[in-house]
Formats: sequence, structure tokens, C-alpha cells
Amino acid sequence: MMPKPVTYVSTRDSARQPVSLEDALLMGLAPDGGLFVPTRIPWIDVDSLPQDNFMELAGRVLTPWLEGTFTETEVHEICREAFNFPVPVVPLSGRESVSVLELFHGPTLSFKDFGARFLGRVLGRIVRDEITILVATSGDTGSAVADGCSGIPGVRVVLLFPAGQVSTVQEQQLIAKRPGVSALRINGSFDDCQQMVKRAFSDRRLESKRLSTANSINIGRLLPQMLYYIHAAKQVGRTDITFCVPSGNLGNLTAGVLAHQSGLGVKGFVAAHNLNDFFPRWLANPESAFSPSRSTLSNAMDVGAPSNFERLLYLLEMDELRHLIQAVSISDEQTTGRMKQVWETYGYQADPHTGVGLDACFERSETASQMIVLATAHPGKFPDTVLSATGRNAEVPSQLASLDGAACNVLDMEADLDRLVEFLRM
Ligand SMILES: *Cc1c(COP(=O)(O)O)cnc(C)c1O
Repeated sequence: MMPKPVTYVSTRDSARQPVSLEDALLMGLAPDGGLFVPTRIPWIDVDSLPQDNFMELAGRVLTPWLEGTFTETEVHEICREAFNFPVPVVPLSGRESVSVLELFHGPTLSFKDFGARFLGRVLGRIVRDEITILVATSGDTGSAVADGCSGIPGVRVVLLFPAGQVSTVQEQQLIAKRPGVSALRINGSFDDCQQMVKRAFSDRRLESKRLSTANSINIGRLLPQMLYYIHAAKQVGRTDITFCVPSGNLGNLTAGVLAHQSGLGVKGFVAAHNLNDFFPRWLANPESAFSPSRSTLSNAMDVGAPSNFERLLYLLEMDELRHLIQAVSISDEQTTGRMKQVWETYGYQADPHTGVGLDACFERSETASQMIVLATAHPGKFPDTVLSATGRNAEVPSQLASLDGAACNVLDMEADLDRLVEFLRM
């Protein structure tokens, strides 16, 4: 008998009628402002999965999750299109108990390619009319979504980013000309961009437009992020791994928890945060409140109020959460110090986000246990920090080299909702 499709409810009002995967994907956020969570978690027989074939593993793991929306053949096809890059697990030479799971070999060089490429291909198969994906971005999400959703019939992408507040490499990636994608350089802050996006969603003038979001609140971003935890565990061949996850909005960590709940044996998770330390503070004292975000060298993790926190609380009982997850906050000095030490000792060059993860890992690695640090971005994306920390230039991957002199497409805009509405109605 075919199992029933997995349906989704809101974290805020789970008593309401569950929605289908399709609706959860298209809406992004639940109507009551909550996040979509699955009503049931399919069980996955991890032992039976292939060890060396990521695409095959992906198709097998995601089939029960996408049941009712896509056939097994379609799921495998989506996975082959989306995950067409390597996902290596690299042991640190001389420190066998620590491996780095490199998630940055996709087209825009961060782990966000997994979620964005998958979401793009899934949306392309379910949209009936045109859908506009609005994304406010200060880091890696924008380029990953632009790349992942570009050229997909029926999907239009509009990116908003703050002028002068993204790195040169990030800006190059954001404004590269892509079919179906418009980049808006906003004369304002990241918060202004986010406000404009939020207000556009409830603007009556845009009622006839179907708007969606591709931030990590969309469940379609999280599902594919389960895959590499399972893949890494299969590669290392152990069920007592501690995963160390550079964290901001806690989407990546939540995906690890989902993988665990669907059958992956783990020892636990470490949420490695930069100075934006809400989660470590909250674990120490549940009365702790969100705080405004602070700028650090690992800018994709500069999040004061992690959006997926609400999902974590929904998925785990309090004592389970405390048992499974530790959290730490790492300063910029500790980060660059660790990048230098790891380069000098193991010859491994890490980007600053991965540096936060490595420091959190080394601070607590017990020799007996196996640690895997998720490497969330390519060092070549952050050339200045990498050079000053390690004294050596980061390698420039081909994905970046090809951006030099490439055609770009960007529109400068005031931080004004009316301008955005006008643009979206065109
Ligand atoms: C987005 C991002 C993170 C944080 O991931 P979350 O899922 O928001 O916790 C970490 N590192 C890099 C490089 C990122 O782009």
C-alpha cells in the first residue's frame, strides 16, 4: 500500500487543516505567520542507501517526502538536475577524528545551492501561472536563488540587496545577467530590503501577482539539506557523529534534526554561531530574547532572530533538544585565529563561516568521537578575510573566474515600497 502523502501545518496553529506539500512550497510562509512543519516524518532505511552516489541517495531519501506530488521517477530526475556537483567529505590530515563536509562546489559556491536548485526545479514543475520569487539578500541566498531558479518557465526572481553592503564577489554574483532574474540595488540597509519584501506581500496593488519567497523559511529549502548529513554519515561509516553546523537562521541545523528524526543515527549537533549568539544564550537561559543583528566576518550568519528557531522548538521536546544540540558563540578573533591554525597545521583553507564551525568543533572535540564540520562556503568567496587570516590567497574557483567581465543586469532603486510595487507590476 502506498503511504499517505506528507502534509504540513503551521508552527503557530497546528490545529488547522494541514496543507499539501505543493501549497506549502508555493506559500512559503503559513498564513498565520508561522513556518510549515511536516505532520509526519517518513522513516528512511539509512543502511540500504548507496554510499558513493549522492544523486541516487537523494532520490531515494526524498521520494517518500514528495509522495503524492511527484513520482519516484520525477524525484530522481529533479535530484539529477539539482545536485550535479560533488559533495566531498575531507578528513583533516593528521586529525582523523575531524572531517570537513564541503558543501560549496555548486554554481554559487555555498550550501544554499542545494536548497535553491532543488526548490527551483520543484517549483518549475508545479507552477501553473507565473510566480514571482522575492528575495531580500545580504549574502549567499540571493545568488543561489537567482542561479537555482533562473530560466525556469513560469518563475520570475526579483532580488533586493543593500547598496555598498555586500562584498565585491557577492555583488558580482548577484548582478550577473540571468534569464528571468532582476537584481535591485537598494539605496538603504538590509533591513530596508527585508521590510520592502514583507510589505509587498500584503500590498493590495499586488493582489493579482502570485508572490513567494525562497528564504530558508520555505520548507522546500530544508528538505534537500537533509541529504548531505546522511551522505556524510554513510561516507564515514559511523552512527555516532557530532555534526558541527555554522549557523545563522538555523535552517541547516533544522535540516540535520529532520534527517535524524527520519532515521539517521547521530551523537548530536553543535550550532556554531558568530557573535550573534541568541541560540547559545537561550540554551543557557530560556528567558533570553532575540537581539538586533551585529556585523561580523561571517556575514551570512549575522542573524539576531533566527527564523527556524520556531521550527526547532516544534520538532523537538525541550529535553530532547538539550540532549541533542549544543550551541556556542565564536568571536571574529577566534574565527581568524582558527582559520590560521587549521591552515598551518592541516593545510586546509577555510572560509570565515566554516572557520566558526571549525573553532566550535576544536573547542569541544573529544578524541574518541567523530566530528564533521559543515563547510558552508568556498574560501574564494571571501578572499580578503582568507588572505589576512592565512597569509595566502584563496584559490579562485572556475565559478567565480567566469564572472569577470560577464554581462550584468542591475537596477538602482530608492528604499521605497511604491517603487518596488511599480516595478513588480510591470
Ligand atoms: C546562510 C549561511 C549560513 C547559515 O545557515 P542557516 O541555515 O541560516 O543557519 C552559514 N554559512 C553560509 C556560508 C551561509 O551562506
